[in-house]
Amino acid sequence: MPRIYITTPLYYVNGDPHLGSAYTMIITDTLARYYRLRGWETFYLTGTDEHGDKIAQAAAEAGMDPKAFTDQVSQTFRAAWDLCGITYDHFIRTTDPYHVRYVQELLTKVYEAGDIYFDRYGGLYCFGCERFYTPKELRDGRCPDHLVEPTLIEEENYFFRMGKYQERLRQHIEAHPDFIRPEGFRNEVLAMLREPIGDLCISRPKSRLTWGIEIPFDRRYVTYVWFDALINYVSALKYKGEEMFQKFWPEAQHFIGKDILKPHGVFWPTMLMAAGLPLYKHLNVHGFWTVEGQKMSKSLGNVISPLVMKERIGMDAFRYFLLRESVFGQDADFREESLHARYNADLANNLGNLVSRTLAMQDRYFKGVVQPLDDPPPAIDRQLAAAFTQAAAEVETQVAHLGLSRALEAIFRATDYANKYITETAPFTLAKDPASLPRVGAVLHNLLEALRVAAQLLAPFLPDASTRIFTALALPREQWSAYDVPWGKMFPPGHRVHTAPVLFPRLS
Ligand SMILES: [Zn+2]
Repeated sequence: MPRIYITTPLYYVNGDPHLGSAYTMIITDTLARYYRLRGWETFYLTGTDEHGDKIAQAAAEAGMDPKAFTDQVSQTFRAAWDLCGITYDHFIRTTDPYHVRYVQELLTKVYEAGDIYFDRYGGLYCFGCERFYTPKELRDGRCPDHLVEPTLIEEENYFFRMGKYQERLRQHIEAHPDFIRPEGFRNEVLAMLREPIGDLCISRPKSRLTWGIEIPFDRRYVTYVWFDALINYVSALKYKGEEMFQKFWPEAQHFIGKDILKPHGVFWPTMLMAAGLPLYKHLNVHGFWTVEGQKMSKSLGNVISPLVMKERIGMDAFRYFLLRESVFGQDADFREESLHARYNADLANNLGNLVSRTLAMQDRYFKGVVQPLDDPPPAIDRQLAAAFTQAAAEVETQVAHLGLSRALEAIFRATDYANKYITETAPFTLAKDPASLPRVGAVLHNLLEALRVAAQLLAPFLPDASTRIFTALALPREQWSAYDVPWGKMFPPGHRVHTAPVLFPRLS
């Protein structure tokens, strides 16, 4: 049985779920649903990253103990994803005892193998990023993210011999062109590897920070938050058991935003090499969203909340817009005007109308009872079937390459074709002549098949709409993912469908 292990980044608990994190969740949830429905063994992981300076500070500002603070914020994330219908299989917190134990185990292993050493180090440190910068990485002497001058810190710390694995990583990326995708991000990592990457400072003295995982061989230190957090992708599987790790780790696909490319593309694979673990299969990197052409920020008041969008247009429509409007790996812009246009044109008019017209006619002319197809089918019926067969094939090809927008485009091209089929066959005109009723019945049967295949193809993308279509078609659940049933074979003689639900009321 084919398998896939899908991970999201662990969200840092000093913020709220917003458009960026919702986008990663919607992509990964769509893929998890897609593979599950096709019978793949699937494990889908998300969670929260809870250690480090920023969390300790946020907790202090809230007048709370860090653990109580992270309990609360982690729960906010989890509840938000549950309300959004995200079907993760496991939710990890980096404060979970099994994660802490595994990080310490791995640190000990790498330390004993000689790839962690103690050294005195002076460097430029950005508290916002919680990391040291080389002068070359700074922009006009400032942190490129926080635009503040870093502080010169000199202290003794533990270092991971990352540079030792630089060449091996470069060779791996050269030999596996889709290890990091899309290609632009692969090239970015290869460019990083053209310069010496140096070693990675992986400890913070407790004099400066206590909120972290203690270094097991030196209690005066805690672990650098990235070194701790990245390990979650393995610790979660290990927690589920060695068998789960053996089964799923070789199929690991990480999904991240482009801002965390370096930790995932450089730190993490070298850490895995040092720990003697196989590398992940793919690192999939997506772009950023702007809102009406501007960067999203609390101060601009343009933050898009997934829960507010759910309330306003429904989760399916929000999913549709994000997946249809963006190309994986590229930046995208959230525009009210495009949202409105896509919603009305694609969801309300194209798909919504097809569902309501088909089921309304089936009810009016045949009281919902499905009629026989024409035998042999005329060319126009065969063309309709072919349009959906082609859509199904395109969805498969596109999803394999993360072309989710193209996959949706293919499905909606088919439903659009079905609407044209209604215009061309004109069942509402034919129905005026009782002698033509058998043909009307055949036309509607073809349209029911079109709805069935559309609902099957849409299920991972628009799970609620898909469920409502299947329910209206009165198909039992085990048929929902019966992709191999040939056209014309889904509805047995006498099968009765229901009247149409309003899937997507038009936005005014
Ligand atoms: Zn910074």
